[in-house]
Amino acid sequence: MVLQHDTSHVSATAATRKPHTPRQGVRLAIAAALVVALSSSVFLLAGLAAYAWYRRALADCVEWGNTYRLMDEHVAALSNQATVIANRVSQTKDVDRKSLDKLDATAAQASAQRRQATASVQTVGDVPSACRAKQSPLALRSHVDAYRDAALALKPWVGRLRKAEHPVAVRVLAQDSQTLNETAGRIRAALPGVRELARETTGLHDHRVSRELHKAIEAAQSVTDKPNQASYGTLLDTERQLFARADAAVHARNIERGIDCGRTACVALTFDDGPRAGTSQQVTAALRRAGDQATFFAIGGAVNDATQTMLRNDTRYGMPVGSHTMSHMDLPMIMSSGAEHREFDEASARIAQASGRPVTLLRPPHGVADEASRQYLADHLGVGIALYDVDSYDWAVGATARSVQWKVTAQVRSGSIILMHDIHSHTAAALPHILDALRAKGYRTVTITELIDRYPRPGYVYYSRDNIIPW
Ligand SMILES: [Zn+2]
Repeated sequence: MVLQHDTSHVSATAATRKPHTPRQGVRLAIAAALVVALSSSVFLLAGLAAYAWYRRALADCVEWGNTYRLMDEHVAALSNQATVIANRVSQTKDVDRKSLDKLDATAAQASAQRRQATASVQTVGDVPSACRAKQSPLALRSHVDAYRDAALALKPWVGRLRKAEHPVAVRVLAQDSQTLNETAGRIRAALPGVRELARETTGLHDHRVSRELHKAIEAAQSVTDKPNQASYGTLLDTERQLFARADAAVHARNIERGIDCGRTACVALTFDDGPRAGTSQQVTAALRRAGDQATFFAIGGAVNDATQTMLRNDTRYGMPVGSHTMSHMDLPMIMSSGAEHREFDEASARIAQASGRPVTLLRPPHGVADEASRQYLADHLGVGIALYDVDSYDWAVGATARSVQWKVTAQVRSGSIILMHDIHSHTAAALPHILDALRAKGYRTVTITELIDRYPRPGYVYYSRDNIIPW
C-alpha cells in the first residue's frame, strides 16, 4: 500500500513534471537572464556612482585648492594693509590706542592663522599636482579636506581684519584725498550695475525695496560726485548701504519669481567664449524652448556687427551676459603685462554696449584669478568673479555630446555653477538632454545672481552658492 502509494506519488509527480520541463527551462533561462541583467545593472549603477564620486573629488580638489590659494593671498594683503595703516597712525597725534592695538593684534593673529594653514597643506602640495587626474578618489578626497579646512579657517579673518581696520582707517584717513578719490571711484564703478537692477526691479510689488534702493543710489551718486566734501567713513557707509539695498532688491525679485535656492535645488548654467554664429544661437534657442535660464560670458573680441544681436537677445530673454576678457587672456598675465584697460575695461564696455546691460560679473579664462586682478576688478569695474564647481569638459579634445552630458550629470549638485561653452556643436547637441536630466533630478536653472540671492559683489569670487570668497 505504502509502496504503491509512493510509486503512484512518484509517477504522479513525474507525470506532472514531465510536460513542464521545457517551460521550466525557459523560466530558468529568464531567471538567469534576470540575474545577469540585475547584477550587470548593479555593476553599472555602482560604476556610475564610482565615476561620479571620482569626478566630484577631482572637481572639489581644484575648487578648494584654488579657494585656499585666493583666500591666503587676500588675508596676506589685508594683513599688510593693516600694518601700513597702523604705521601711518603711529605718526599722527590723533591715535585711538585701543582700536590700534586691536588692529595690530588681529593682523598678528591672521598671520599666525596663515602660517598654520600653510603648514597644514604643505604635504598636499600645489593644485596641479595634488589634483591631477587618474589617482584614487580617496587620495583626492584627503586633499580636498586639507584645502577646504585651510580655506575655511582663513575665511573669517577677511571680515575680522576689515572690521578691526575700520575704526582706525576712518579716523586716520578721514580726509585723505587719495583714499577718498579711490573709494569714490570704486563706488562709481559699481553704480551702473546697481542702477540697472533698480530699473529692473521698479515694478516689484514690494515698492519699499525699490524706493530704498533708489535712495541708496542717489546718496552714492552725490557722495561720489564730490568725494572731497565727504569723509572716508561716510563713503564706506554709503557703499555698504548701496549693496545692502541691492541685495534686498535681488532677494525681493527672487521671491516674486518663486526662486528660493536655499530650500529648493537650483543650478546656474554658464556658457563661455561666445558669441559665435550658429552654436550660440542653438544654445539660446534650446534654453528658450525648455524655459531654462543661463548666464553667458562673452569674449569682447568676438563681439562684432554680426554677433552683437545674439547678446542683445540673451539679455532680452532675461539671460545676463558677463565678460570673459577681450582676448581670452589669463588674469595674472593681464595684470603683469599691463593689459588691464583693454582686457577688462574695453571688453566690459563693448559687451555692455552689445547686450544693452552693464557687466556685473567676469569669468576668468581657464578659471585662473589672483589677488591683483580681484583688486583691479573691484576698484575699477565694480564686477565680481564668477568661477564654477562643475566643469563639463566640453573644451577637451575628443569631447562628445554624450561625454559632456555625463560629466555634467555626474558632478552636479544643488547650488552648482556649471561651466560650458557655446562655441561647440557637441555642447549645443548635449544641452537639450542636459536640461531634461537636470529637470528629472529636480533642479531649477537660474542665473548666477538668482542663485546667490544677492547682488554680485565687486571683488567677490563665486564658485557655487555655497562657496563664496569675500573681498
Ligand atoms: Zn574661455
